[in-house]
Amino acid sequence: MRHNGRFGTFGGFYVPEVLIGALEEIEQAFDRWRDDSQFCQELEALSRHYAGRPTPLYYARRFSDQVGCRVYLKREDLLHGGAHKVNNTLGQGLLAKYMGKTRLIAETGAGQHGLATAMIGALFGMETKIFMGTTDVARQNVNVHKMRLCGAEVIPVEGGTGTLKDAINDALRYWTAHVEDTFYLFGTAGGPHPYPMIVRHFQTPIGHEARQQCIDQVGRLPDVVAACVGGGSNAIGIFSAFLDDAEVRLVGVEGGGRGLESGQHCATLVAGSVGILHGAQTYVLQDAHGQIRETESISAGLDYPGVGPEHAHLKETGRAEYVCADDESVLDAFALLIRTEGIIPALESSHALAWLMQQKGQLPPDAVVVVNLSGRGDKDVGIVESHRPLQ
Ligand SMILES: *Cc1c(COP(=O)(O)O)cnc(C)c1O
Repeated sequence: MRHNGRFGTFGGFYVPEVLIGALEEIEQAFDRWRDDSQFCQELEALSRHYAGRPTPLYYARRFSDQVGCRVYLKREDLLHGGAHKVNNTLGQGLLAKYMGKTRLIAETGAGQHGLATAMIGALFGMETKIFMGTTDVARQNVNVHKMRLCGAEVIPVEGGTGTLKDAINDALRYWTAHVEDTFYLFGTAGGPHPYPMIVRHFQTPIGHEARQQCIDQVGRLPDVVAACVGGGSNAIGIFSAFLDDAEVRLVGVEGGGRGLESGQHCATLVAGSVGILHGAQTYVLQDAHGQIRETESISAGLDYPGVGPEHAHLKETGRAEYVCADDESVLDAFALLIRTEGIIPALESSHALAWLMQQKGQLPPDAVVVVNLSGRGDKDVGIVESHRPLQ
């Protein structure tokens, strides 16, 4: 399926000349180390003892009763750092170390990827710089503080709207001037080749484990696999293991903000069009002049105006379907999971649960649905409280 970093017609690398060499260097290193036994053993040991893999597949009985089918949660929320992001930062961080790089840089919006990179910078004793828009720095105070505690330098980015897309642009600019000693640790399954391929690779344990656990615990494959989609890394991580199982329905759920009717900016794959963003051809939220539009969702982690090229391809081919969930339904899902299971889901992950709640009565009661619970929601409790205060 992959040719020169293409997923169908999507992907590629549309970057300045100097970065082409840097991207090729990463691609060559990845090819060299990905199956190397020492690299794999080291990554496997860290995944197990540092990050907490394998994560459980949990049958959510009381939640299932409410939605009318059998719901299994892939518990990525139990990983170190509270989300799937550590799978990617561990993998790329180790690759950077094997390449002899001494500095990690990364972009961050909500701060989750910045923090996951800062943790790995501390773990490997590497200098770490995190680029973050000024708007995000102001609204994600706690994560900024945690990154600094890890020893990372947080660099506020003034330009544009002071959000994730501006942070990525500045990180790319910095990288251009420091390619020799710097590894750009990209946060999602998007951006220029080889990142979509590399991030996918380091997130595939989610799918491999979930598929085998489902066979062991249920006795068969699931009918549906659902995951939220920001840039698409947790979704591609779980989808990847099921792509050849034609009978398994794959559903990606994007942030719908305040809903389609409100005329608000909505989800990239649902409402976007084909364009180029951050070095790749993919679906992009843009206006008639190709200007990038801001996304607006209750969960900052889904606010990215692009999406990984493999998802664009899976949408075109029809192998996966993409839908969006609006903020109110996400808050309902967040509340229901806590009330029925005592599990606080990230607002991002709650999008997948919200879609499932909307399927009530449409899936047979014995349908088995695996939901990727990409992260825990401790970080979101304040946001939820501001929307729906407890009496
Ligand atoms: C960052 C994040 C996401 C969105 O990123 P993807 O690359 O689309 O997975 C989803 N869930 C959680 C918990 C996150 O932290």
